[in-house]
Amino acid sequence: MKELKDYREEIERCVRCGTCRSVCPTLDTVRRESHCARGRLTMIEAYLNGEELGERYLKYIKECTLCGACYTSCPNEINTPEIILSARAEYVKKKGMPAFTSFTLKSLLEPAPLTKLALKVAAKLKSLFFKSTPFESGLVSRFSLPVVGEGRLVPEPADPFFLDRAHIRRLATREDYGRMKVGFFVGCGVNYLLPSIGEHTIRVLEKAGINVAVPQGQVCCGIPALSMGDSETAKRVMMKNIEVFEQYGFDRIVTSCATCGHTLKDIFKVVLSDEQGMKERVEAFTSKIMDITEFLVDELDYRGEKTDKRAGVVTYHDPCHLRRFQGISEQPRKLLEESPYEFRGMKNPCRCCGLGGGVSFTNYELSMKIAGRKAENIKKSGADVVATACPGCIVQLKDALYHHDVKARVVHVVELL
Ligand code: SF4
Ligand code: SF4
Repeated sequence: MKELKDYREEIERCVRCGTCRSVCPTLDTVRRESHCARGRLTMIEAYLNGEELGERYLKYIKECTLCGACYTSCPNEINTPEIILSARAEYVKKKGMPAFTSFTLKSLLEPAPLTKLALKVAAKLKSLFFKSTPFESGLVSRFSLPVVGEGRLVPEPADPFFLDRAHIRRLATREDYGRMKVGFFVGCGVNYLLPSIGEHTIRVLEKAGINVAVPQGQVCCGIPALSMGDSETAKRVMMKNIEVFEQYGFDRIVTSCATCGHTLKDIFKVVLSDEQGMKERVEAFTSKIMDITEFLVDELDYRGEKTDKRAGVVTYHDPCHLRRFQGISEQPRKLLEESPYEFRGMKNPCRCCGLGGGVSFTNYELSMKIAGRKAENIKKSGADVVATACPGCIVQLKDALYHHDVKARVVHVVELL
C-alpha cells in the first residue's frame, strides 16, 4: 500500500478552488473548513511538511465519511478518500490504535470460535441491553454500549449467522451452476445483521438461471479495518478472500453490498498490488467482481413478472460506494421498474447517508445529523418503501427514519424482486 508521502504530488495538485466544499456532507453539517476535502488536504500537507498536529489532526481525518463526493467533483481528480485512508493508516502506525478498538476489529473480522460463541451469548442476552421498536424491526440500545452507543437502532443480530446456516453451507459448491459459474461474496452486514438480503440474492439469481455458490471460509472485505487505520488486518483478510475464491475459477463474483463491491473492485488494488507476486492475482480477482444490480441488469437482462404496481410507492437511495466509485445508478432503478412497486425519485438521492468511513462509530451525532437530511428527503418523497443496495446504508437509514418518525420501510433492491 502506498505510504502517505507517496500522495504528496497528488495533494499538491489542489488549487484551493473550493469546488469540493459544495458537495461535502461533513462540511454541510459542521460548517468548518477543516471538514471538507480542501481543509483536510491542507492539514495533511502541513503534517507532511513536519508539523506536529496531534488530536486535532486525527479528528479531521477520522470525521470524513469517505463518500467520494469531493473526488468526483474535483477538477484535478484528487482522490481525497484514498489519501484519507492512507493518512489514517500512517497515524495508527505511528501512534497505535486504542486496545479495545483493535481487539473488536480483529475479533469481528477474523472470527475465532470463541468470538462466535461470545456473539451468540450476547444475542441471547439482547433484552438486557436493548428494547424492541414498534414499527421498524430492530433493537434500540437502552444505555451507552461499547461500539453501539446509546439510543441507536440496530437490526437484531442474525441467529444463526448467514454463513453458518445449514442450507447455505450446502451451497459451498454446486453441481450445476446454470447459465454461468458465479460465486457470492457475502460481507459482514449480510452475514451478521441482514441475512434476508443474502437469501433474496440467492433466490433472485436462481430465478434468473444462476445457481450461485457461497464459499465457506470467506471473511470481511477489510474496509472496516482500513477505515480505522489498521492496514495490516485489512491486508490479511483481503489475501484470505482471494485465496478462498480463486480455488473455484468463477466467471463472476457477485456481492449485494455496495461497500464490499467498491472494496473488492478498487481498494484491493490499492492495498495489495505492491505485495510481492500479488499483482496478477489481484487483477484476476477484482476483474470478476460485480454488484448484484449490475450483474442482473448488464449480464442477465433481468425481467420481473408483469404487475399493476399496487404494492406501494418505492424511492431509491444511491449508496456512495455504488454510484460514485462504481458508476452504478441506472441498474438498481431499472430493477425497481421490474418490481411490483411504483417508483418515485427523491431529492438528492446520491447524498451520503452519513454512515461511511467509520463516522457512525467515531462521531455518532455527526453521522445522524447527516442522515437527518436524508430522512427529510425520504419523508417528502411520500414513499412507503426506501430501496437501496448497501446493507450499511440500510442500517443507517433505518436508524435515521426511526429517530425522525418516518414510517417507511428500508430494504435492499433484491428484496423487492
Ligand atoms: S475541488 Fe479539488 S482542487 Fe478544488 S479545493 Fe477541492 S480538492 Fe482542491
Ligand atoms: S470523502 Fe466525502 S466527507 Fe470526506 S472530504 Fe470528501 S466529500 Fe467530504
